[in-house]
Order: sequence, then structure tokens, then C-alpha cells
Amino acid sequence: MKPKIVRSVEGLHRETANWRAKDYSYAIVPTMGALHEGHLQLVKTGLEHADRVIVSIFVNPRQFAASEDLSRYPRDEAGDLAKLSKAGAHLIYAPSLDQIYGENFSTTISLGGPAKANLEDKFRPQFFDGVATVVAKLFIQSGADYAMFGEKDYQQLQVVRFLARDLDMPIEVVGVPTVRDADGLALSSRNQYLGKVERQHATAIYKSLTQAADKIRQGVDLQTATRAAARSLTTLGFRVDYVTVRNAETLAVPLSHTDEPLRLFAAAWLGTTRLIDNIEV
Ligand code: AMP
Repeated sequence: MKPKIVRSVEGLHRETANWRAKDYSYAIVPTMGALHEGHLQLVKTGLEHADRVIVSIFVNPRQFAASEDLSRYPRDEAGDLAKLSKAGAHLIYAPSLDQIYGENFSTTISLGGPAKANLEDKFRPQFFDGVATVVAKLFIQSGADYAMFGEKDYQQLQVVRFLARDLDMPIEVVGVPTVRDADGLALSSRNQYLGKVERQHATAIYKSLTQAADKIRQGVDLQTATRAAARSLTTLGFRVDYVTVRNAETLAVPLSHTDEPLRLFAAAWLGTTRLIDNIEV
């Protein structure tokens, strides 16, 4: 069945009140549109957890810096609707800007812990403030029981987990494993920016992470393994922002001889496109 689209908080409340009256549970999948199989996997996981699934589509200006790609960020509402219809989503919430940022909007949430890990926050200083603000609003506006987030944006997933837990938000945040192309490249709306040759080279980011993870498991020290990965990416023409290992929960720098759960993170530029990826160690 074709999902309904609502563009106002009022419209959203009408639908969710209906579901509550029937005692249905429901999940929300926050997105910025230009949907691909990664997003659809979140919808699928949402359907496994809840009776109904809302997908929000909102390109959030507050998480883009002035220098970033807000104006050229891909938008394809018709394509998104067709994909969501096939995936079995029940409701699309595509709020207009004023439904999220009303007149004189002036409240933000002060973030710490994983939001200040010196990963994405170092290179995109206002990013997580923007994410937390819109995510908190979507949680409150929807009143959903579950929220699905991709491990592709692992720091974001941890920021949202901490946000919901620390502020007692009555919602369960569910992390969904990264969906990849056959050559390992993590699916991303931004992959559309890559030229043909860049796209072929882009697979190196996942390959260098898996090689580094193998080395770490074999006992190579963390710095040696991550430096080698960064070096190999640089040699291939990437401009590396970081390759680093962190505690998988707090994203803090791990102790050198450690049995903490670890996660490897990379961010690098290929031409004018910034790619991020991460894997479990
Ligand atoms: P975006 O539209 O890029 O803001 O992403 C919306 C949600 O989809 C976020 O929770 C992302 O982590 C998730 N997502 C994006 N790409 C992937 C992927 N390749 N695999 C799994 N989840 C993804």
C-alpha cells in the first residue's frame, strides 16, 4: 500500500493518535531523503520491531556548515516515495521548515561524551548540535516507541543513544548494520557525487579499515595499524581527516593494552566528496 504523506505536526499527530487508539507500536526512521538500500534496511528493521513505521524526510539546515553541501544535497521525493511504498513504510513525515524551526526558535541541547570525541565533531563543529536538535524534535513530535539509526554514522548513533538515555526519552534507539555495495563501499546519498574513477577508488576506505582491523586482532598496536591505513589511503589520493580506533560505546581513546570493545573509524576526502566509514574490530 502507498504510504500517506504528512507535512505538518498536526497531520502527524492525527495518524499517530489513530495508531495509539488501536494499541499499535510504531517506529520512526529519520532521514534526509535521497533514499538507498541502507535507508530501506532501517525501514525493514523498523517493521521487525513495531506494527507501524514512519519515515521522516527532512534536510536539516542546522547540521550543515556554511561551507557544506546543503544546496546541492540530493533531493528526490518522488523516487523516495516509490522506494518507501515498496519497502512497506506506513507514513512519511516530510515537514516544512517551519514545522521544525518555528519563529524565534532558540533552544539547543548541550552535548558531551560521544559528541565530543574529536571525530566528526572536530571537522564539523555544529553538526551534532543540529542532529540532536532535530532528532529530539522528531522523537517528541512523533512519540514513537523505536527509532532506527544506521551504524554507517556510528558517532551519530552513539550521540543519539546517549541523548535518549540521558534525557529519559521514552524511545528505544536501535542500531542497524551498514549496508554496502558489492565492493564494500558503504551506501551513502553522497556517493552520487563521486565520478566514475573516484567511485572505483572509494572501495579502498573499507578495505583499509578491514586490513587495519585484522592487524589489530593479530596484536599489532593500534597506532601502527591506523597509521598504515591512513598512509595507504593517502597514497591512493585520499585526503585523510582521520583513521582511528575508539571504545565502541563511549568513543573515548582506548588504553593501549585493552579488552574494551573497539571500533575503527575513518573519514577521508576523494576530490570534493567526504566519505566516512567504520567497522567493529
Ligand atoms: P541520512 O539520510 O544520510 O541522514 O541517513 C539517515 C539514516 O540512514 C541514518 O541513521 C544513517 O546512519 C542511515 N544510513 C545511511 N546510510 C546507511 C547505510 N549504508 N547502511 C545503514 N544505514 C545507513
